[in-house]
Amino acid sequence: MLKSVKQTLEIPVRNECDVLVVGAGPAGMGAALTAARKGARVTLVEYGGKLGGMWTLGLLSPFFDNLNKPGINQELREKLSERKAWGGLWNMAYDPSQMTLLLNQMALDAKLDVLLYTTACEPYMDGNEIRGVFVQNKSGRQLILAKIVIDCTGDGDIAARAGCPFEVGRPEDGAFQPMTLMFKIGGVREEYPRDGITDWYPVLQYRNRANPETLIEDVPFDKPCIIKIPGPGGQALVQWTHIRFHKGHDGEELTHATQMAMLQVEKAMGYFHQVRDFIGDVYLLELPAVIGVRESRRITGEYIISDDDVLKGFHPVDGICDVHFGVDIHEPSKAKQTNLRNAGFDIPFRSLVPLKVENLLTAGRCISGSFIAHASYRVTGDCLMMGEAAGAKACDAINRGITVRELSRELAK
Ligand SMILES: Cc1cc2nc3c(=O)[nH]c(=O)nc-3n(C[C@H](O)[C@H](O)[C@H](O)COP(=O)(O)OP(=O)(O)OC[C@H]3O[C@@H](n4cnc5c(N)ncnc54)[C@H](O)[C@@H]3O)c2cc1C
Repeated sequence: MLKSVKQTLEIPVRNECDVLVVGAGPAGMGAALTAARKGARVTLVEYGGKLGGMWTLGLLSPFFDNLNKPGINQELREKLSERKAWGGLWNMAYDPSQMTLLLNQMALDAKLDVLLYTTACEPYMDGNEIRGVFVQNKSGRQLILAKIVIDCTGDGDIAARAGCPFEVGRPEDGAFQPMTLMFKIGGVREEYPRDGITDWYPVLQYRNRANPETLIEDVPFDKPCIIKIPGPGGQALVQWTHIRFHKGHDGEELTHATQMAMLQVEKAMGYFHQVRDFIGDVYLLELPAVIGVRESRRITGEYIISDDDVLKGFHPVDGICDVHFGVDIHEPSKAKQTNLRNAGFDIPFRSLVPLKVENLLTAGRCISGSFIAHASYRVTGDCLMMGEAAGAKACDAINRGITVRELSRELAK
């Protein structure tokens, strides 16, 4: 059988911009909006059909590590409140549909050049310098040229293909935190449990022990959550499914994980029916566009955030994002969650500057840090703030005519 083929294509250049942001999740939105608001010509490429990444395509809530932050974190809090789409659990849950509409409005207001339904495929390299990215969509293959590329794909797709070194998984065996397919239900009992999330655990987990007829033997996670969406109507997002030993940056494994997770959704709905006297007569309202990948590649940068930085505290001179969220590890090989105290640390800009390739930044969950550090800074409030810093620093470097690496070394002195 044919093993591979060589293909030569004439590829049109779609446009040339100052800053090309790849991936429109929390990090990408932060980067693109910030750079555009500073006057840069920004193109934002996203393979989903809407902006927001896990916020919207993944159907998650709440917005962790948001309340302590100014900037776009604050802007989103305020604008979602105006839409009556903010509050509820720990005062930081939101409605993903309203988030989708809001991000679209913000992108239009900032005059972002947005390209949805578009996969960023390969970097366009000149030696060790990235000059742009080949993209693919309904129009075919095109090249977008840029002075600086910011990889906000979550998986570090472009940085890895450009030749940047990266790490994966936990140190002992490279295993990843499991993936989760969130889902939305309707008909949840209107009385909100006193303590939101934690009050649901007994309903979802321990009550079956007291009532053997409702026993469900293979709950895939020890803390399944029902997260009520602000507003009337008894709608909630459910974090229940957990798929282990699958890689989020492998197309085959991602597909298999998604299919297996859907079976777990069916099982969960069957279980909810058994406990309807507690939870309400719930029904399946919506499945997300994508399965949620907690971790994949961590692109090695000028600085790797260490376990000690998180557990003992770290406040470097080039800090760009204060992380307060605790270390939250959904265990790779068992149905458990391990939580460790975060002493409070700042992400240094150096961790967004990958080794070996010039004109490239990362932001979001693919930046440079240890397995434990990642388990803290991966939440959306932090990814957004990292993105804002990446967008701002890209503009500074362009305006001063220096590379982002030179800028980061200057800031770290
Ligand atoms: C199940 C689950 C539940 C979570 N719960 C919470 C929670 O309650 N609160 C919280 O704050 N955080 C939560 N997190 C963590 C958080 O969602 C992620 O770590 C965060 O969204 C990462 O942001 P990001 O911008 O780096 O990546 P993402 O949100 O993953 O966004 C990446 C974007 O890039 C796009 N993309 C990827 N590759 C390409 C490509 N090659 N070309 C074009 N586009 C591409 C994707 O479509 C996506 O839109 C959860 C994570 C998971 C998986």
